[in-house]
Amino acid sequence: MAFYNPKRSKSWNYGGDKWRLSRSKIDLFLECQKCFYLDNKLGTKRPPGFPFNLNSAVDALLKKEFDIHRRAQTPHPLMVKFGIDAVPFEHKDIDTWRENFEGVEAFYEEGGFYVSGAVDDVWVNTSGELHVVDYKSTSKDEEVTLDAEWQNGYKRQMEVYQWLLRKNGFKVSNMGYFVYANARKDKDTFEGKLEFRMKIIPYDGDDSWVDGAIRDAKECLGRNTIPGSSNTCEYCAYRDAITDSERDITGSEKQNKDVDRRTLF
Ligand code: SF4
Repeated sequence: MAFYNPKRSKSWNYGGDKWRLSRSKIDLFLECQKCFYLDNKLGTKRPPGFPFNLNSAVDALLKKEFDIHRRAQTPHPLMVKFGIDAVPFEHKDIDTWRENFEGVEAFYEEGGFYVSGAVDDVWVNTSGELHVVDYKSTSKDEEVTLDAEWQNGYKRQMEVYQWLLRKNGFKVSNMGYFVYANARKDKDTFEGKLEFRMKIIPYDGDDSWVDGAIRDAKECLGRNTIPGSSNTCEYCAYRDAITDSERDITGSEKQNKDVDRRTLF
């Protein structure tokens, strides 16, 4: 099984030396406590989705572009176009903050563990306040917004990053920015290139829920019982149905073997 390792080493589980409560784990806890517990305490996580390589390519190129302006300490033309009075933040740890499995870290004293999350970018305004920035890419005919319910996860993501940078002693603005790249499908031909409409969407964050969520997640991991499934996810219903079907088959196979054995004697 090259893509999915259903049992990982204990050091990556809650209590292990490599375990961190990452931003995505906090989101999993809010989505389904059972999945969170199975993953972090018992060490079996859901199979990963297939990697979004086109989105990663957009992120990598945006990063290069903003890095040019970070080095020059100039605003990116998109920042000028959308009236944002800031420049990309130059900091010795910026590469670590953007690295998956590293990211911005803060020690959560009450739990005795680290909380972490990898940002896409951080900008700084003329008052010295930091803005958390997230790159997103999509392809839709209509205008991109943050109005869909499924995008609440994007907002929570930004708020966790704001919380993390504040825990590191930075002055952080509630205002974060989503740099959205929207691939056009209304071109006549492809010719080996995608063209994007670019937009920066401001988001006024509120990280006041983060402490409570971390506390609740810790309390969940301290239990000795597996929490119940989420009502909104259908996979556990699928898994239960499969288990029942397998039990029926195993039961009938056993019955058949018993009958065979009786006919032999
Ligand atoms: S309900 Fe869904 S999210 Fe929750 S444990 Fe089952 S599969 Fe995981």
